Amino acid sequence: MPTRWYNILADMPTPPAPMLHPQTRQPLTVDEMSQLFARGLSEQEFSRERFIEIPDQVRDLYRIWRPTPLVRASGLEKALDTPAKIYFKNESVSPVGSHKLNSAIPQAYYNKVEGIQHLTTETGAGQWGSALSIACKHFGLDLRVYMVRVSYEQKPYRKSVMHTYGATVIPSPSETTEAGRQMLAAYPNTPGSLGMAISEAVEYARTHENTRYALGSTLNHVCLHQTIIGEEARLQMEKTGDYPDVVIGCFGGGSNFCGISFPFLRDKLAGERSTRFIAAEPASCPKLTHGKFEYDFGDSQGLTPLIPMYTLGHDFQPAAIHAGGLRYHGGGQIISQLMKDGWIEAADVQQLESFQAGVLFSQVEGIIPAPESTHAICVAIQEALRAKEEGIEKTILFNLSGHGLIDMASYDRYFAGELS
Ligand SMILES: *Cc1c(COP(=O)(O)O)cnc(C)c1O
Repeated sequence: MPTRWYNILADMPTPPAPMLHPQTRQPLTVDEMSQLFARGLSEQEFSRERFIEIPDQVRDLYRIWRPTPLVRASGLEKALDTPAKIYFKNESVSPVGSHKLNSAIPQAYYNKVEGIQHLTTETGAGQWGSALSIACKHFGLDLRVYMVRVSYEQKPYRKSVMHTYGATVIPSPSETTEAGRQMLAAYPNTPGSLGMAISEAVEYARTHENTRYALGSTLNHVCLHQTIIGEEARLQMEKTGDYPDVVIGCFGGGSNFCGISFPFLRDKLAGERSTRFIAAEPASCPKLTHGKFEYDFGDSQGLTPLIPMYTLGHDFQPAAIHAGGLRYHGGGQIISQLMKDGWIEAADVQQLESFQAGVLFSQVEGIIPAPESTHAICVAIQEALRAKEEGIEKTILFNLSGHGLIDMASYDRYFAGELS
């Protein structure tokens, strides 16, 4: 298992524009960020150090399930009758079933060592909330999760997972914050949104003693932690004798895509490789393929710093697709700059084609993917079929960000023809 995370900020030819303080509109400082996030995480957010040592206590917990398998998808290759070699990195084997734990553990750790006792966060479908719940339990922190109301009501199992790990889960918008009360007064029957839940979690952390906030994607320190995926994959690919021509990840706020990509992108930035990197996003929330590059907030109320990024607007309300983890309006600071400079590409995928890909993958590889991960599988299949048409061998690597065993209601609705 690698001992360091990779910080791509050290190698970007065009550094991203700074994040701005939401009130002063001046470049955000580490001190300002530390009022909301642990200082260790705020320092990582701005760091230009190429490699950052993974603390021992974090590595001990990573060892519960890491390294994760790198798998040759021979069943999928056969089903597609493609000359391409397809590999996937299986992040679904983590105790919570997704890559989210890779960042939840260090986030809980840095808060703990600084003496913080309470954390708040938000969760959409519940993947991030589940991961942070067990991470907080490992370090003896108390956690309050604002869960988007529609998911709280329609996806009860992840709420049960969070309860089991000992977290407090509150459907958002709620009466427990000013932001929530305002939202409920204006829209009594609102299903809630991720942006709304972030506003509540941020407000609660700001107004309570010894409390900090944690975010599961988009920010630089989250992408940094996720590079454990790609660092491992590099070592594993070396053993196969292959090197990926294409690297693919699904894209919500960017963390798993960054995680699998950045360690390989390092070689491309150094001029040693010409690998393509494809972010697979849902057609219903296409910030990289159809968004605008501008300063925008990370939440719906404008409480977070302004981030220079591809965005659909912080008040964008995506359709209620079943890949809940991909329904985020912005692409984050690093990815957006890399996209603008042409180092990575993006592809958008329709919901029905994503489920079709997910069902094929389930049947030939035996792992039922999360609805989010099916987007990456779909683009990997498209690339493999193109290789077949063109009669060229190529090596495809995608990240299987999670399994879908708690999302079977979504598969049921797909089979019943109820999805669009
Ligand atoms: C949260 C989640 C995603 C999307 O988040 P990113 O930060 O873009 O990785 C993708 N897949 C799964 C399984 C998730 O839980």
